[in-house]
Amino acid sequence: MIGVSSGRLVLEAKGLHRDYGSVVAVDALDLSMSEGEFLTIVGPNGAGKSTLLSMLSGAMRPTTGSVSVCGEELDFARHEWRHRIGMLSHKGFLYDRMTVEENLNFYGKLFGIADLKDRIASRLRRVGLSERARSEVRKLSHGMRQRASLARALLHDPDLVLLDEPYSGLDPAAALVLRDVLEELKDGRRTVVMVTHNLREGLEMATRIAIQVGGRFEWEGSLKGARWEDFESHYHCVVEGRV
Ligand code: ADP
Repeated sequence: MIGVSSGRLVLEAKGLHRDYGSVVAVDALDLSMSEGEFLTIVGPNGAGKSTLLSMLSGAMRPTTGSVSVCGEELDFARHEWRHRIGMLSHKGFLYDRMTVEENLNFYGKLFGIADLKDRIASRLRRVGLSERARSEVRKLSHGMRQRASLARALLHDPDLVLLDEPYSGLDPAAALVLRDVLEELKDGRRTVVMVTHNLREGLEMATRIAIQVGGRFEWEGSLKGARWEDFESHYHCVVEGRV
């Protein structure tokens, strides 16, 4: 099981397992995370990373195993725990024919946010999308859509933030904005799990790292002052089964 540190326990997955027919996507995985931790998961395509995040977010039911967030087991028939989780994935969870602002307004009302107008304005400013607030989502570029999804994921100030490939499709300027936003999430109150192929950004940000292969964490640890370039060859050894 990947380590447990001293802060409040935010996320606990036990024996988390998901099959798609004969394919085992996530293989009886245990994971505990405390407040303030930032876990970056790296691994090859097909390692089960997206499936893992979907189950941690409550969007996908595991074949077996359980997920608890802030001590409350995710009950897939109920939605009360959703206010604790912010998820960014390739799905985006945005309505194409609504404007960015309308989308955020819709989600903000679902979460019962009181100062919604100000909150939306501040989130859009933070991701550099204020000028496109009134654009329909279908008219945005991929990178802009990604920024809007990030604003949506963080709108309700969740305890647990789950990010599936947040750098995908971002231009260098947008990647810098994302990097700043992620740094701000390391405020000690938040717990973050990020899946990324961007080794440099992912590793420098992380307090913990896991290499996922074949549905399992084949290696867990931290950079401990090592350079991310040095980690790269270690990563390839783990993925190719040479360690
Ligand atoms: P990753 O995010 O690491 O690329 P995924 O979680 O997307 O991995 O996929 C893990 C495995 O599960 C892969 O073998 C993939 O083909 C399979 N898989 C994912 N989604 C489905 C699905 N909806 N139906 C069948 N197989 C799936």
